[in-house]
Amino acid sequence: MEHTVESDLFERDHLEFGRTVAEFVKRHVEPNLERWDRDRLIDRDTWRAAGKQGLLGLAVPEEYGGPGETDYRFRVAVQLEIGKAGAAALQSGFSTNDDIVLNYLLRHADHEQKQRWLPGFLTGDTIGAIAMTEPGAGSDLRGIETTAVPDGDDWVLNGSKTFITSGILADLVIVFAKTGERGFSLFVVEEGMAGFSRGRKLDKIGLHAQDTAELFFDNVRVPAGNLLGEVGAGLDYLKRSLPLERLGIAIAGQASAEAVLGWTLDYTRERTAFGRRIADFQVLAHQLAELRTAIEVSRSYLDRCVREWNKGTLSAADAAKAKFWATDLQGRVVDTAVQMHGGYGYMMEYPVAKAFVDARIQRIYGGTNEIMKEIVQKDLIGRP
Ligand SMILES: Cc1cc2nc3c(=O)[nH]c(=O)nc-3n(C[C@H](O)[C@H](O)[C@H](O)COP(=O)(O)OP(=O)(O)OC[C@H]3O[C@@H](n4cnc5c(N)ncnc54)[C@H](O)[C@@H]3O)c2cc1C
Repeated sequence: MEHTVESDLFERDHLEFGRTVAEFVKRHVEPNLERWDRDRLIDRDTWRAAGKQGLLGLAVPEEYGGPGETDYRFRVAVQLEIGKAGAAALQSGFSTNDDIVLNYLLRHADHEQKQRWLPGFLTGDTIGAIAMTEPGAGSDLRGIETTAVPDGDDWVLNGSKTFITSGILADLVIVFAKTGERGFSLFVVEEGMAGFSRGRKLDKIGLHAQDTAELFFDNVRVPAGNLLGEVGAGLDYLKRSLPLERLGIAIAGQASAEAVLGWTLDYTRERTAFGRRIADFQVLAHQLAELRTAIEVSRSYLDRCVREWNKGTLSAADAAKAKFWATDLQGRVVDTAVQMHGGYGYMMEYPVAKAFVDARIQRIYGGTNEIMKEIVQKDLIGRP
């Protein structure tokens, strides 16, 4: 049964687009979910199929062959439909491409770079990654040790990154590196550059289908034409783009929470114990009522954030609130949902179990929820 959460975010075009996404999910996602988890990888054909359906690279401008659709509600439609199928790894892969990597390229790449890189984001031929985190520095990105040193027309890149989403498949990686006294800068490292290698596919407790990996840079000569934007502006670029990354994570969390609560409502209305539906036990009924209320309230706030993003007025603090709020709620929903499914909730063949393990990372990546509260408190109180 559908348990749609009230929202007036979408107009006719978004609803229609949502139906196209739903069709894609039915044909290309649902039949492959288990295999992707087993393979620890989502195959490239899925990306290309999504490209063919017009689900990727929506924001690529017309002059580079795209629809130039900057209304973020279409991205929300993609995330919600994929979330309904419980395909969290695909959500995070697509979000890394469209909300993060593409966003950096649109903002900071020059015309020649856009001509080179943007078309692949439309067709699904280019899988992108963002490499900020290192073994020794995650929350505190100023502590990174990867360096880029100028040498003739090139930059020589040395260092390593870890926990990189799409790290195994990525054709294009935006690398955050130290550029000496000139601060931090962003470089685009491409598949095939000498000295660029990938480590093992990391073994995670959830998001099994996501190819999270370590990346190594050993004297990689990065041509000057692969520097993104200005030297020394890297940290500023991150600050400007992280709000969209966080909004994307919040929406993925909301999508999962809505889907999981729906499955749980269905389950608790069917399962019986002591001669009645388990949903009729007041303890469960009240928990369901609370979660549904929290989900509706959360959706209203996220809808507002999406509208703010479209207007260009979403603040870093509001995006941080959205991220920690929606992902904390997602955590509460999946945990309660597993409990209400009893032993079946612990079985991976039940989607609720997969949603449970997939959800845990949401409070960690994109900036931990503690860091989100730091951003909010700085805006509110200004404590250093
Ligand atoms: C599956 C997965 C995918 C990821 N994808 C990417 C990716 O694509 N690209 C990328 O660059 N990174 C990625 N990451 C990395 C992720 O963003 C970091 O793991 C995260 O930012 C935390 O950094 P850390 O692991 O170094 O933890 P730490 O920074 O060491 O934090 C450890 C703990 O200390 C807390 N803490 C730290 N500082 C403070 C503070 N000031 N106040 C309060 N608490 C604090 C943290 O909240 C956390 O609980 C991914 C991680 C995973 C697991």
